[in-house]
Amino acid sequence: MISFGAGEPDFDTPVHIKEAVRTALETPGGGFGKYTDVGGLPQLRKAIADELGGVHNVALDPEQVLVSTGAKHSLYNLFMALIDPGDEVLIPAPYWVSYPDMVMLAGGKPVILETRAEDDFAVTADQVRAACTPRTRAIVLNNPSNPTGAVYSRKQVEALGAAVVEKDLLVVSDDIYRQLVYGDAEYVSIARLGPETAKRTILVDGASKTYAMTGWRVGYTAGPLPLIKAMAKIQGQSTSNPTHISQIAALAALTGPQGCVAEMRAAFDQRRIAIVKLLRAIPGVSCREPKGAFYAFPDVSAYVGKKTPEGATLADDVQLCDWLVEVGKVAVVPGSGFGAPGFVRLSYACSMQNIEQGVDRFGKALATLR
Ligand code: PLP
Repeated sequence: MISFGAGEPDFDTPVHIKEAVRTALETPGGGFGKYTDVGGLPQLRKAIADELGGVHNVALDPEQVLVSTGAKHSLYNLFMALIDPGDEVLIPAPYWVSYPDMVMLAGGKPVILETRAEDDFAVTADQVRAACTPRTRAIVLNNPSNPTGAVYSRKQVEALGAAVVEKDLLVVSDDIYRQLVYGDAEYVSIARLGPETAKRTILVDGASKTYAMTGWRVGYTAGPLPLIKAMAKIQGQSTSNPTHISQIAALAALTGPQGCVAEMRAAFDQRRIAIVKLLRAIPGVSCREPKGAFYAFPDVSAYVGKKTPEGATLADDVQLCDWLVEVGKVAVVPGSGFGAPGFVRLSYACSMQNIEQGVDRFGKALATLR
């Protein structure tokens, strides 16, 4: 089986990060097995405030930062703290699977805004304006996007920023892939546009994707103090602090040398170019150029509804993907889960050899459908 399913870098956590952890553990009386402040170690919150403050051009006090057990946990706490029953949250589709469910768990109503591959999956300011009701509280902006790899242009971010201010929305800015942007694309921060968008933006970020640290579970939120305090209260009554030693690792990641990020980004970029070329060579498959994250998101709708050599009809992308696993020995993720039926997601956070062999299997299997 060759899998394109994993949403995590295949690289090891960089050595200097592991070294920092080893040193900490070996420090006699260092207390690294103890509780920390619920919201994270003060020095880590300061490092995060400094980093995010610089990127987004906002003045952040460490008190405005909450460290959680992965960005998923950050987002969960955030929706729980933010949403009252019946509040609406705008979520552009294709979306990361957890947003709508988290909003619903918090008693809110996800309002899905459909986008098109032809528009590089960008939601427009007019769509945002049209979707707003008196109950609309926030919009989720995941830039670069999981699952599409789309990156919003400066013009698009500016247009969205204007709509956000006009409609007085909060922006849940999930920037977990911010440092994985390729070619001539650039990450544009909506907060950085100016004070009006800055005060409405809640920054969600983390160590998982940038530093190949998915398993360490460190994510963080920065935003208005009352919201961060409310989130800390929820965290304090559920999980308490994120793992102490993982916080040490995150601190080393943020304050240590950043060459590892550039190296991993360069490797992802090579794989991105290769996978898009291979996917585009498959008849009936179309693939927009992903400009960020580590996912390709081709349209395979030409193969939905076709018959397998075994005589079964593949009625949708889920059945297509199940069949690809079973017969083609290649795993890709159905677009339906991301609100995009007819598409599939391939993570290229895997070896070049897997990309070549796996896409070959994918194409060969599809070619047997009638
Ligand atoms: N946001 C997006 C868009 C993601 O793709 C992920 C992970 O897949 C997360 C947040 C959560 O990341 P983690 O909890 O590993 O920090």
